[in-house]
Amino acid sequence: MKVVKKKCSVKGCARLSQKKKLCCAHYERYRKYGKDFDKSLIKPIRLIDRFKRKMSKKDANGCIEVPGTLDQYGYVKFYCSNSKYMTAHRLSYLLFVGEIVPKFYVCHTCDNIKCVNPEHLYIGNYTDQKADRQKGVKNAG
Ligand SMILES: [Zn+2]
Ligand SMILES: [Zn+2]
Repeated sequence: MKVVKKKCSVKGCARLSQKKKLCCAHYERYRKYGKDFDKSLIKPIRLIDRFKRKMSKKDANGCIEVPGTLDQYGYVKFYCSNSKYMTAHRLSYLLFVGEIVPKFYVCHTCDNIKCVNPEHLYIGNYTDQKADRQKGVKNAG
């Protein structure tokens, strides 16, 4: 039951497409402005490039990791810029999938909370996030 996600059709956009062959950010523009929407890139492409270079090859479960120190839950912290860090899985979702609705959390469909494969990430509520953190505790112990 593998869902193959295609990339956004906007040239240079590395996000996965959600609707109409567009990522959600570009789809939002399309909805607002019609087919003449602004096709400029939305996320800093250099950060995507740097993130991609750090991504490991998929392991047997299809999980991808990036190196970095771990936070108290076992999530990888990824350096963005200006001394700002973000958890890598959350950043991966932002870069490759789309915006994260406030008060919702990026969780894993796999058991590896260090995983940044966008195909293994979904938006969950507080309960989902708590369960996700438990996986980290389990793996550490
Ligand atoms: Zn796009
Ligand atoms: Zn995974």
